Amino acid sequence: MLRRSLSPLLARAMGRVVPFLSATAGASFSFSSSSNSLKPRLPGEDETNENNQNSRPTGAITVDRSGLYNPPDHLHKPSVDTEIIKHLKSIIKFRGGPISISEYMEEVLTNPNHGLYINRDVFGAGGDFTTSPEVSQMFGEMVGVWTMCLWEQLGQPAKVNLVELGPGRGTLMADLLRGSSKFVDFAKSLNIYLVECSPTLQKLQYSTLKCVDEAISSGDTATSTTTTLTGAPIFWHVDLEGVPSGLPTIIIAHEFFDALPIHQFQKTSRGWCEKMIDMSEDSSGFDFVLSPQPTPASLLYLRRLCQWVGKEEIGKLEQIEVCPRALELSHQIAKRIASDGGGALIIDYGKNEIISDSLQAIRKHKFVHVLDNPGSADLSAFVDFSTIRHCCAEAASECISVHGPITQSQLFGSLGINFRVEALLQNCSEEQAESLRTGYWRLVGDGEAPFWEGTVEQTPIGMGTRYLAMAIVNKKQGVPIPFK
Ligand code: SAH
Repeated sequence: MLRRSLSPLLARAMGRVVPFLSATAGASFSFSSSSNSLKPRLPGEDETNENNQNSRPTGAITVDRSGLYNPPDHLHKPSVDTEIIKHLKSIIKFRGGPISISEYMEEVLTNPNHGLYINRDVFGAGGDFTTSPEVSQMFGEMVGVWTMCLWEQLGQPAKVNLVELGPGRGTLMADLLRGSSKFVDFAKSLNIYLVECSPTLQKLQYSTLKCVDEAISSGDTATSTTTTLTGAPIFWHVDLEGVPSGLPTIIIAHEFFDALPIHQFQKTSRGWCEKMIDMSEDSSGFDFVLSPQPTPASLLYLRRLCQWVGKEEIGKLEQIEVCPRALELSHQIAKRIASDGGGALIIDYGKNEIISDSLQAIRKHKFVHVLDNPGSADLSAFVDFSTIRHCCAEAASECISVHGPITQSQLFGSLGINFRVEALLQNCSEEQAESLRTGYWRLVGDGEAPFWEGTVEQTPIGMGTRYLAMAIVNKKQGVPIPFK
């Protein structure tokens, strides 16, 4: 059963997607039989939504942090304040009032001493959530195909900067490099830049990418780092600004934008007020409160949104979420691509419209209340792709073009994931075949996998339409595949 052909399922999952590799670049970019021998990873997790006990538990949460949002009212308060809780309370006391959700999110996730990402590996079965690159090697491989296609469109430059924003465990990049290693000119062209704020995750990325340090010249104490997967030099930076410019640049961001801090605004009779976070009355925990009047953030960001959404549209909404860092980053990406050439691929869950209220918290693969034991759960919010598009256009519309969003299923379908999974299935154990089929379904399927014969609890849920992909490219490169 496990080895049975996926063809009918592929057709169902892909809908009308045109297989790109067979039709166009197959000759140059189809994967070698040697890369077929890559060992599929075995995800295997048991996640349930503790807040929705009546709904059927599924494996969905591994690749979807969106569908089951329904936090409980009840807040669990730890008996002793953790360092991050003490820190949050001290900021609120020092300010003499509540803090924005944006500040809360930033402290909880990336505070240099106590942030969730800073000291912990939050990914995988033992962590809080599992991302798509951890579900299947095919994720990184397909992003690799996209990257190689853009490199071709760039005219196969001898040197290119490949930047990944928020690489997590480094799995996407490792699979991208392994999958593309036989395309020697491409592999040799890469300078890899990982933008990562967490020292713990930087170390993990170093290990996943099988890095080594070498003295720059004999007798020199300064070292440079390369990945033994392909020999490419690797550099770490805490932000995109630190990545040197001057070479064509390809930027990958998977589940990076959703981790950036957001503000939430709410329409009231007093105007657009801001949802904020204060200490609870007995000071034991935290509560949401509404600012008594518009805040500088609500005034500034709603004015900005009005520039492209229009006052009327904004007026129809009751709540609005804005991610200032996403606005800045989109500007930065657009400017970088305008000046250096190249492009960016953003894959995330979200919508192509203004988001109202999507902030969510996940601990140990279960949705929890956003204010429940801060620092013990990952926080994220839907990405507003329409705003990214407008910010890019604002920054450099004469030089860059923005494409999509399209669904992840359309993206990977067009890049040839169906051929890849069939190839991998030719050469694997029964266990690996099952992992491949479920991984495939999670990446590009829609809803429950029709082929599943295991337990109901483990049914793979396809997230191919929940995750969206957007490309930003320099106009000189033409329209990127498969956004044509
Ligand atoms: N792309 C990875 C991980 C996504 S989680 C994957 O798909 O598996 C978000 C990643 O972004 C983590 O590596 C986190 O440490 C990093 N990150 C979050 N906020 C950041 C910031 N402000 N600056 C740099 N890195 C950040």
